[in-house]
Amino acid sequence: MSTLDPFRFLDLPRQDLPKAPAQERASHFGEIYGDFPSDQAAAQSGRCLDCGNPYCEWKCPLHNLIPGWLSLVRDGRLTEAAELAHRTNPLPEICGRVCPQDRLCEGACTLEDGFGAVTIGAVERHLTDHVLERGWRPDLSGVRPTGRRVAIVGAGPAGLGCADTLVRYGVEAHVFDRYRQIGGLLTFGIPPFKLDKEIVKRRRMVLEEMGVRFHLGVEIGKDLAFHDLLADHDALFLGMGAYTPMRGGFPGEDLPGVHRALDFLIGNVRPQLGLGSEGHIDLRDKRVVVLGGGDTAMDCNRTAIRQGAARVTCAYRRDRENMPGSRREVVNAQEEGVHFLWNRQPVRILGHERVEAVEVIRTRLGAQDERGRRRPEPVPSSEEIIDAEAVLIAFGFQPSPPGWLARFGVETDARGRVLAPAAGRFPFQTANPKVFAGGDMVRGSDLVVTAVAEGRDAALGIVGFLK
Ligand code: SF4
Repeated sequence: MSTLDPFRFLDLPRQDLPKAPAQERASHFGEIYGDFPSDQAAAQSGRCLDCGNPYCEWKCPLHNLIPGWLSLVRDGRLTEAAELAHRTNPLPEICGRVCPQDRLCEGACTLEDGFGAVTIGAVERHLTDHVLERGWRPDLSGVRPTGRRVAIVGAGPAGLGCADTLVRYGVEAHVFDRYRQIGGLLTFGIPPFKLDKEIVKRRRMVLEEMGVRFHLGVEIGKDLAFHDLLADHDALFLGMGAYTPMRGGFPGEDLPGVHRALDFLIGNVRPQLGLGSEGHIDLRDKRVVVLGGGDTAMDCNRTAIRQGAARVTCAYRRDRENMPGSRREVVNAQEEGVHFLWNRQPVRILGHERVEAVEVIRTRLGAQDERGRRRPEPVPSSEEIIDAEAVLIAFGFQPSPPGWLARFGVETDARGRVLAPAAGRFPFQTANPKVFAGGDMVRGSDLVVTAVAEGRDAALGIVGFLK
């Protein structure tokens, strides 16, 4: 079979990355996937049809040039593939790990219908890891300094996407974050079994070598006045994320033993980062109920399993098909021992001194809501009780922009989202022309890749504004 055989997909089935057996991987927090050997990465890349109208590119929020870098990997030209991948994606090895590919690029692959999509995420991760481990760095030799400097508040995916793009246009990027590590949710929220923290550290090194300056452990509005930041820079980008948990609005949510997803995940990762055990929530030997159906709920499920919970039950109000999270993560959770209850909506959390059980009611799916998703409707008299010693609530997050932002003319909507339209003259510019914003702070909690894309596009808006 020739390496250029366009019908290679007929003989060569989709192969996923090697995955550790469920029992073994549930006993530690290390990443569960290994890497492709290079010949396998090339062979899997060669399955791409180069179909002329690549839906995968359109479905990828970054519009990555996927068939282009797949063909370079197929031909063993990994350095060129990395150059091309970085042209659109500042964090390819991270997106390759954490994107819900089945809902994005791979879900749109022509081969998905009957043959198995090309393993796009795995190849993106493989090619980037391969070249970075061998010392490759983005080539910025042609960049001419503009003498302009921009402050970025928040070192999460949106801020990093913005910083990477700015330095490529010769703009000094100064990233401020209240934590001493970069990454935001990449470091503190996403568990290490999905994203090893060494990967984020390596990306920090790459960005620093590209010229990005990090000012860590600095809280804007407390350690450094926003006014001074504004005065010292030609423009600002806000990428402060969304950290305020959404409430369910049912009785018992504040009982001892009921925890917010992010508190649990951050408390779990802090000791692994050498930051002490403050806030650690230990679920060993406990019967745990997780409420929610997104990727954060899956992270809670699988972290609880790794902590040694006696039983983990995940209740979600729609069916499996309509879960917002990645199907791959649901499969991983099931393999590791999580028990799912679909079509169950929480009614209340029961307990006296602390949580003792969760009452749920069965649902069926009714008419579509304004976002096109079918609404769950309770089935009368179908309540049931699930006993629980701990409950983790993962209903999503909303932004909580600091109150002082309004004093600088930055406007927000009723839900606290900063108003920064993507389609404005300068994308992601706020009502204060010098201030831009993107990521979860603007759209509410969403995917890592979406935040990276908005940070990148806001940087292009800033570059236009500075001209
Ligand atoms: Fe797919 Fe995400 Fe990579 Fe885009 S960034 S190609 S959606 S894995």
